Amino acid sequence: MQQDTLWQAVLGEIELSVSRGNFITWFKNTSLVSQDDGTIVIGVNNIFVKQSLEKKYSDMLGAVLKKNGISVENIEYKIVASQSPARVSHQEKPVSVGVSGISPSGSDFDQEDSPAAGSSVLSHSYGQGINSRYSFDNFVVGDGNELAFAACQSIAIQPGKKYNPLFLYGGVGIGKTHLIQAVGNAIKTNNPKSKVLYISTEQFVREFVQALRNRTTAAFASYYRAADVLIVDDIQFIAGKDKMQEEFFHTFNTLHQANKQIIMSSDKPPKEIQTLEARLQSRFAGGMTIDMQIPDFETRCAIIETKAQDHGTSIEADVIEYLATNINTNIRELEGALNQLMAWCEMRGLDPTLDIASSLLNINKSRPKHLSSKQVIEKTARHFQLPIDDIVGPKRDKDIVVPRQVAMYLLRNELHLSFPKIAKELGRKDHTTAIHSVEKIQKEIQLDPSLRTAVSDIKESLYA
Ligand code: ADP
Ligand code: MG
Repeated sequence: MQQDTLWQAVLGEIELSVSRGNFITWFKNTSLVSQDDGTIVIGVNNIFVKQSLEKKYSDMLGAVLKKNGISVENIEYKIVASQSPARVSHQEKPVSVGVSGISPSGSDFDQEDSPAAGSSVLSHSYGQGINSRYSFDNFVVGDGNELAFAACQSIAIQPGKKYNPLFLYGGVGIGKTHLIQAVGNAIKTNNPKSKVLYISTEQFVREFVQALRNRTTAAFASYYRAADVLIVDDIQFIAGKDKMQEEFFHTFNTLHQANKQIIMSSDKPPKEIQTLEARLQSRFAGGMTIDMQIPDFETRCAIIETKAQDHGTSIEADVIEYLATNINTNIRELEGALNQLMAWCEMRGLDPTLDIASSLLNINKSRPKHLSSKQVIEKTARHFQLPIDDIVGPKRDKDIVVPRQVAMYLLRNELHLSFPKIAKELGRKDHTTAIHSVEKIQKEIQLDPSLRTAVSDIKESLYA
């Protein structure tokens, strides 16, 4: 009991020094197992929490323990059966929102929530389009998505007050829709009357075109301009649609001036959305712009673990690590692979093993027969306007090194060549160069939209 009190004190302190999301993901379900002779044993739910704590938080834990009068020489982590297997149970209240005591001021939300309020003739109602499956609770937080998570939580507590607009951007399948819908769900939970409007840009454009055709643009405008919270997903699709941009500009201004929260997601930052009017570009970037990235390895493992648990399946750590290593750009794909694996095993009454996982993934990864290494190198060289001899040669200038690394990345990801083979194809002796290059490009693609575009252009030319 005393240990328990001590641990609660330690957790209380940690809670103040890490983000809410990180606390929930990595600390909430830990316990103090034993404490003896300078060694403290902390109980964790799974291997990924263990790895993450070891790697990222041991120093901080040591310091907090010391502050609480315990000096430890050694912190150990032990996997103990979880008290609440559904760590991210959907029944739990949304994290911090509503329990913090701060809730959005009622006055912002006291309008009637009638479907198609005002003179709108639109067939859907506020709140429609938000999927209750997406919550803060079942969003695993780690490097890559932490900032976006924190901003979204903060908005859920006080919509329209701080980050307005919020502009989230990043690659496909990394959790943008999940997070922005989680904001909508949390606000609705806190304030059932609030008019939370979530819409994909495609639907937004479709409705607008219909309104133009039916001469009901006034109703369209008043419907959207009466929202308390407007969440627009994949706003990049507004590019090139002049009339829609004009309409959205006015909707945006009306809401923004009334301190109504606006949230947008996109696959690229505002300034890179081609043919987006300058005035919209500056409006979009006028609040908080966050670059979301694929979560790091430990977090990807924790996501798989969580999803498998939700499904009632337990999967061995080696299998989880295999999935998280091999699928490292897209959480949707990671989820897809996991579902495929679970379904395959369920049908046959087998437990998922590394062999099964690797054979299933290899099916997807079978090398495209029509592509050769030579073609990959050629197309890469052509894209960067370099002679092939430079790419496979000894030069180390930056404008040659990066294309060379891109070629390695593509050989790995498109042809699934081994690292020694990749090194050989590019005239390198040491295969660790290939490993570093592939990892580097993998990372930079997340950070650098122009590199992302270059890689996708080359891929397009390969498969054209
Ligand atoms: P995006 O909108 O960026 O393309 P989504 O939000 O649709 O991506 O995410 C793809 C899938 O991955 C969804 O099923 C989502 O629930 C899941 N996902 C992404 N990130 C996380 C995370 N950090 N924790 C749990 N699930 C996640
Ligand atoms: Mg999305």
